[in-house]
Amino acid sequence: MERPNSPQLDTLLATVEELRLQEARLAELKALVATQAQALSQIANKASRIEAAIYAYWYAPEVHASDLALGATGRAHPGRLLKAAGPVSVGVPCDRCGEDLPIRSRNEMKETQERLRSSPRWAEGYRVLCLGCEEAVLDARRLASDRQDKARAARCQVLAALPYADYLRTPEWRDAMAQHLWFRAHEFQNLGCEACGSEEERGVYHKSLDDLGHADDVVLLCATCRGALAGAGKLAGEPGPQNRLKDADAERILAERFADLQA
Ligand SMILES: [Zn+2]
Ligand SMILES: [Zn+2]
Repeated sequence: MERPNSPQLDTLLATVEELRLQEARLAELKALVATQAQALSQIANKASRIEAAIYAYWYAPEVHASDLALGATGRAHPGRLLKAAGPVSVGVPCDRCGEDLPIRSRNEMKETQERLRSSPRWAEGYRVLCLGCEEAVLDARRLASDRQDKARAARCQVLAALPYADYLRTPEWRDAMAQHLWFRAHEFQNLGCEACGSEEERGVYHKSLDDLGHADDVVLLCATCRGALAGAGKLAGEPGPQNRLKDADAERILAERFADLQA
């Protein structure tokens, strides 16, 4: 088969070639690590030899234990090496308090080192935490979220006590309206009146005034349907200019929606 003429194929094959080189290099490095682990045997002093091997055993979990054992003791089985080293304290400092996290196995060390190299798994920026700090961080989160809940509840009381015309001027109303429009645009791909589909003089109106500011009960209507529903007593509050949906805003929201769809 002849190689087709295509720059995309050329790019792909070049990357594959690079991958092969890297894989060959990786194999070379692994072999080198094994050789160098065994070369610990060149450390003349036996205690230093054991010390070096046991350090690599814990802090370089990529090295095969058998190569280290071979270098330090002349036997491939790590049992003798571990016995010769006696009890050692192995740890990695906690990102928050600096106390060593005890490491109980090479696997655990490997996982811990991977966590240290990757992006923090804690939103607070920590990569590894001791148990005490883990609890402290979780407590602080609970406290912050309690405080937030209380502030939100207090704000809801304030909003509920506002005259409707004043509520319409709050950022909460802007958010509630934007959220409803976003929902309509995403679920239905259009921002027509929810009763008749018309796009004439639209607005977002309250069906009830319960839960203002956190679960606004609203509907998107054209002027005609709004008049009809208000006449039937199915809408709440005297609407203001802040209820109206500008055509330009509707177009922008839909444009964003379609940009999302294409992404
Ligand atoms: Zn800690
Ligand atoms: Zn309508």
